[in-house]
Amino acid sequence: MTQQLLVAGGGMAGLAVAIAAARAGWQPRLFEQAAAFSEAGAGLQLGPNATRRLDAWGLGAELERVGAFPRELRVRGACDAKPLASMALGTDFAQRYGAPYVTLHRADLHDLLRGRARALGTQLNLESRVAAVSQSGDGVALDLDSGGRAEGAALAGADGLWSTVRAQVWPGSTAARPTGHLAYRALLKQRDLPAHLRSDDVTVWLGPRLHAVTYPVRRGEWLNAVAIVEGDLPRSGQTWDLPAFGADLLRSFEAASACAELKDLASAAPWWRLWVLHDRAPVAAATEMARGRVALLGDAAHPMRPYFAQGAGMAIEDADELGRCLSLVPDGGAQLPAALSLYAANRWARNARVQRRSQRNGRIFHATGAMRVARDAALKVLGERLLDANWLYR
Ligand SMILES: Cc1cc2nc3c(=O)[nH]c(=O)nc-3n(C[C@H](O)[C@H](O)[C@H](O)COP(=O)(O)OP(=O)(O)OC[C@H]3O[C@@H](n4cnc5c(N)ncnc54)[C@H](O)[C@@H]3O)c2cc1C
Repeated sequence: MTQQLLVAGGGMAGLAVAIAAARAGWQPRLFEQAAAFSEAGAGLQLGPNATRRLDAWGLGAELERVGAFPRELRVRGACDAKPLASMALGTDFAQRYGAPYVTLHRADLHDLLRGRARALGTQLNLESRVAAVSQSGDGVALDLDSGGRAEGAALAGADGLWSTVRAQVWPGSTAARPTGHLAYRALLKQRDLPAHLRSDDVTVWLGPRLHAVTYPVRRGEWLNAVAIVEGDLPRSGQTWDLPAFGADLLRSFEAASACAELKDLASAAPWWRLWVLHDRAPVAAATEMARGRVALLGDAAHPMRPYFAQGAGMAIEDADELGRCLSLVPDGGAQLPAALSLYAANRWARNARVQRRSQRNGRIFHATGAMRVARDAALKVLGERLLDANWLYR
């Protein structure tokens, strides 16, 4: 009999693991709390470590249809706009790593993953908030807020930053912590922008105590803009995605003496979304990612600061590895916990490394004083050698 994998959460991680599990011969049943599947109106960058897996899942052609393929990663000063370093992201990069660097709208990636998961037979349940998890020697059960109950051989906890699965199965784990950084995000129609703001590249602007990133999405028709500033909001907890004014971002840029281009960018969109960034300490052991018949993946396991653009990439890698480990136990029997432990053993250290690297990038991106001078000098001298991440992409 086909074994059932219960999946809590229908974000990138949940849909990705549904695909990987179905490919491994399991029957995924996904439970999403929201009334409709949706993703914030914002962009995502995916390196070849993620796009290689999407291609293997049969999504390569569709990725080409909806994504953008930036030619270059450029680093510039946020105050003087001067170039500091660059790295080609086009054909040579794709050949070097066997897969392209893609930038795309979150909703487009979510649609692709959802379409594939459904085509592979995933049961997708909306308005199905997981309230409680219990496991026994031969199975796992979910109690839903709606009063329903679901049983399966294993559970993938892909319910994000505020994971209920994590809280239930790892009761001692601490809550996600605010990072003291706020992310302003907007999508801007390129043809409505003045020429100096349009771009087909990924551009990272480094300033004192702030940075900004822009890149194209939807075949280059839109420009995704993210600006990260230091600060906090009186409202915290799970209220982390809020409406914001371009005028507020402009004030932050003015206070940091940012260049005219960034100030124009802030003014180009009257409305932005403001995300209060949270993370957790890097994963410290495999036992934090699997316990019995339950495995965690994506932000539920290792939420990270977005300064390495790898949160969704790691979720896709997790899903791929979890699928591989599930394929080792097609009967979902007594060996299942060992297969999930293998998954965690193969994933935790890499996730922790990416979490640490994301934290470090944040400190470097926002450097002030002597550290900022040293950073800029190193970028000018070492350029591509600092920007490439062979250990991550290969
Ligand atoms: C500003 C910013 C920029 C970023 N840029 C990048 C980038 O360029 N590249 C990249 O790879 N990553 C990036 N990331 C990270 C990436 O967005 C996340 O790592 C990724 O979306 C996590 O996906 P997830 O499925 O694990 O979690 P989520 O997207 O949070 O999905 C969790 C899902 O679970 C559901 N859920 C929650 N609780 C329950 C419950 N109890 N029962 C049922 N359902 C539940 C939620 O409704 C949600 O749909 C960025 C993040 C930020 C904040």
